[in-house]
Amino acid sequence: MPAPAIHLLPPELVSQIAAGEVVERPASVVKELLENALDAKARDIRITVREAGRRLIEVADDGHGIPADQLALAVARHATSKIQRADDLFHILTLGFRGEALAAIASVSRLTLTSRPPEAEMGARIRVEGGQAGPVEPVGAPPGTVVRVEDLFYNVPARRKFLKSDATERRHIDALVTRYALAYPQVRFRLTQDDRLVLQSDGQGDRRSVLATLYGPDLARRMLPVDDEAPGVRVSGFVSPPDLTRSHRRDMVFFVNGRPVQDAALSAALLKGYHTLLMVGRYPIAVLFVELSPEAVDVNVHPTKAEVRFRQPDRVFRAVQQAVRKALLAHTPIPDLDADLPHPFWGTAPPSGTALLPNFPARPQGSRAGASGETVRTSGAGPQLPETAPTPGALPGTERIPLLRLVGQIAATYLVAEGPDGLYLIDQHAAHERVLFERFMAQREASAPSQTLLEPVTVHLPPQQARLLEEQLPYLGRWGFEVEPFGPGTFRVRAVPTLLAGMDPAAALRALVEDFEEDETPLQGHIEARIIARVCKRAAVKAGQVLSPQEQEALLRDLEACENPRSCPHGRPTMIRIALDALEKRFGRLGPR
Ligand code: ADP
Ligand code: MG
Repeated sequence: MPAPAIHLLPPELVSQIAAGEVVERPASVVKELLENALDAKARDIRITVREAGRRLIEVADDGHGIPADQLALAVARHATSKIQRADDLFHILTLGFRGEALAAIASVSRLTLTSRPPEAEMGARIRVEGGQAGPVEPVGAPPGTVVRVEDLFYNVPARRKFLKSDATERRHIDALVTRYALAYPQVRFRLTQDDRLVLQSDGQGDRRSVLATLYGPDLARRMLPVDDEAPGVRVSGFVSPPDLTRSHRRDMVFFVNGRPVQDAALSAALLKGYHTLLMVGRYPIAVLFVELSPEAVDVNVHPTKAEVRFRQPDRVFRAVQQAVRKALLAHTPIPDLDADLPHPFWGTAPPSGTALLPNFPARPQGSRAGASGETVRTSGAGPQLPETAPTPGALPGTERIPLLRLVGQIAATYLVAEGPDGLYLIDQHAAHERVLFERFMAQREASAPSQTLLEPVTVHLPPQQARLLEEQLPYLGRWGFEVEPFGPGTFRVRAVPTLLAGMDPAAALRALVEDFEEDETPLQGHIEARIIARVCKRAAVKAGQVLSPQEQEALLRDLEACENPRSCPHGRPTMIRIALDALEKRFGRLGPR
């Protein structure tokens, strides 16, 4: 068979292949355009997105602009104003330098570049469609640059298929703009998606106030400042106190010389700074800015410039770890007021009567509900909670557990019980999660009983979470939540499920959207179960809480009544059994003969 002929690829195809590296999704376009605006010293950047960026991404800035005679070059491959020679690669002060972003974007979309340097009389415009540039035309335009990217990937259907749901793509854009707004507090950012103002920063230069507009004032107030200088490395920004954590790493954000960077070693250094202060599986919220001289870091590692290489990595990691540690030590923890999570489920006096666990102890009408200080009133009309099902006996071969006799509680964390076949150790938190979960799921069919708050509570959420909550709003009513949008990123809670009546309403609402995995589009039923599981986790009694004998007993009975008593909704075991014959073997009563 003859060897296939080798031929040079046509330039458009070369560009499209190269574009694949830079332009993965709409958020990558936003990133490149933002970086160009920042490199042009813009003080005001407006980002407009339609249909998650598939239809339109437009970034308008008030930067130094591009002279008309250079417009064609700006969209050509390997054309940049930012570096001249190879040497320059080792002290880069701009975000861009590869001269390929505009060309790459233009090869997979319909791009219009309009620009006017402030000193020019008029602006000029060029249109590029699928890599084919049209003529440069004079137009009236305000000083600065507007890049309009329409119909992204219209000529690369394969790439379009790889895009996730609109919600996910929008979330990537929100997260990206959030990060840049934090990194550049002296620049005003404004992001609109489908005519809705999603986020906005004031450009006044105060990072904590940007933090507050983006993440809400409560979170911003609690974040601890980091500011430390080691030889050749400065580390600044914010980290969360050890009791403000997430179950994922996505809120650990790093910038190196103003450039957002993903780096496992930097994350590891941050976590080391928290040494022993974090619970297993919990991660801090952090926005850290690492600054070092441009020669000490190589940013030309990857086309998206999201990875860097440090000349002296150990020095950088040690600086991060120490800066974080110092910030944490400087913050003296306030004795646990636990405003976030009051302990409403276990009064100081053991609840009387039969309805103990998880029908949270009833509060007198109009009484104060826990540390949140919110006043709660029971809406008399709400249906009553279903009675606990009669305890089933031991049904061999089913998932149910046998009748257990309570022995007591140890380490304020585990219940000890005796069953017909051995000793049971029950994780009280996991067990309570399971009990709450099944109650919630059972109530979902009808609609869950609801408790109206005497005064509605206003909750502010960061853009990504606000978006998630909005998607969930139609389903919330069914679980007894009454929530309405109340301005950008803000919601009003009017009622909460009775099951959560003792919990801080804001915390309950946050639990709904926290920890939601980004790139998932599971079935609706599946989402509901996951959301409910998350809420139950927040509401369940914690390890370390001393329970009265009645409470222990009630938890045990409720667990026995569960459909799936052996694991919590997240799949962890609720109990460990030590079989009697295992005990007997250990004590040599049943030795192998
Ligand atoms: P790079 O940013 O790596 O130089 P780009 O393809 O992103 O490459 O941009 C090419 C050139 O176009 C830049 O070097 C810059 O001179 C000019 N340019 C792009 N966007 C802007 C903007 N918003 N304001 C001013 N100049 C711009
Ligand atoms: Mg660029």
